[in-house]
Amino acid sequence: MSAREPRFPGLVLPSPLVELSDDRLRGPGIRLYLKRDDLIHPELPGNKWRKLKYNLTVARQQGHTRLLTFGGAYSNHLRAVAAAGHFFGFETVGVVRGEEHQPLNDSLAYAVGRGMRLTYLDRTTYRRKAEPDVLAALSEEFGPCYMVPEGGGNGLGVRGCAELPAEIERGFDVICCACGTGTTLAGIAAGLTGDQRAWGLAVLKGGRFLDDELRRLQRESFDHETDNWTIDYDFPFGGYAKRTPELDAFIADFTTRHGITLDWVYEAKMMYGLFERIGSGAFAPGTTIVAVLS
Ligand SMILES: *Cc1c(COP(=O)(O)O)cnc(C)c1O
Repeated sequence: MSAREPRFPGLVLPSPLVELSDDRLRGPGIRLYLKRDDLIHPELPGNKWRKLKYNLTVARQQGHTRLLTFGGAYSNHLRAVAAAGHFFGFETVGVVRGEEHQPLNDSLAYAVGRGMRLTYLDRTTYRRKAEPDVLAALSEEFGPCYMVPEGGGNGLGVRGCAELPAEIERGFDVICCACGTGTTLAGIAAGLTGDQRAWGLAVLKGGRFLDDELRRLQRESFDHETDNWTIDYDFPFGGYAKRTPELDAFIADFTTRHGITLDWVYEAKMMYGLFERIGSGAFAPGTTIVAVLS
C-alpha cells in the first residue's frame, strides 16, 4: 500500500527538540531533552496528527468522504478528528461514550464547531463498539464511513508514530512518552535503532492489558514485535483523568522552572514518573533521555 503524506500548511515538523536544564538532573548525571510534539499544530497536536496522517491518506485512497470515530466526552482524539475533517475535507462523525449532556463541554463544543456530528452510545454498547452489529447500525445511520478506532489506535497510527525517532538529530539512549492506547509508544519503539529503548508511563489505573495491546498494535502495523520498550504502571494518580494535589503541585513547579504548563491528563504524570525514576537512580549516569510532549 502506498501512503503518501497528506499535505497540510501550518504543521511544525520536525517538532522542536529543547534541552531541559534542571537541578534534579545534575546529581544523577542525566541529560534530558523535550521533544515538543505539542507544538506541531494547535488543533492537531503531536501524536494526534502522527496517528491520523496515514489513516487520512488511506481513507482518501479508498474513496471515503466521511470519517467516523469513537471517544469519551473529553477526548483529545475526537477533537483532532474533527479538526482533520475540517482541514482535509471529510465529513466527521463522533461516537461519544455515555449520555448526552447539555451544554456541551469545551471539547465536544469545539468538535461540533469543526463540523463533527455527534452521536452517543450507552457504556454497555460502547464497550461493544468494534462488534459487527454495532458498526452496522452506525453505518446504517450515517452512511459509508472510514472507521478510525478510539484514540487512533491501529496499525496506520503506529506507522505515523514510528517516524518520530528519526526526527531527533542528536544521539539519545532512552525516549519516554505517556500511554493511553499505547499506539504512540508502539510506534516510537518501532522507530528506534541500536540499543535505544522506549519507556512509557501508563496514565490508566490497572492498565496492564496495555502490554498485550502494544504487541498487537505492532503486529498489525508491521507483522512483528519489538522488545525494546517497557511500560511503567506506578504513577496513575488515581486513574485516567484523575488528579491529586501532589500532581498539581508538580505542574505548578514545572511551570515556574521551565515556563511550560504540562497537560495534566498525560504529560504531567509522565514527567512526574520520569523525575521519580531519575531521582531513584533508574538510569545510569551519562544517560541521555528524550521525553515526548504530545
Ligand atoms: C492522546 C494523548 C496521549 C496518548 O497517546 P496513545 O497513543 O493513545 O498512547 C498522550 N498524550 C497526549 C497529550 C494525548 O493527547
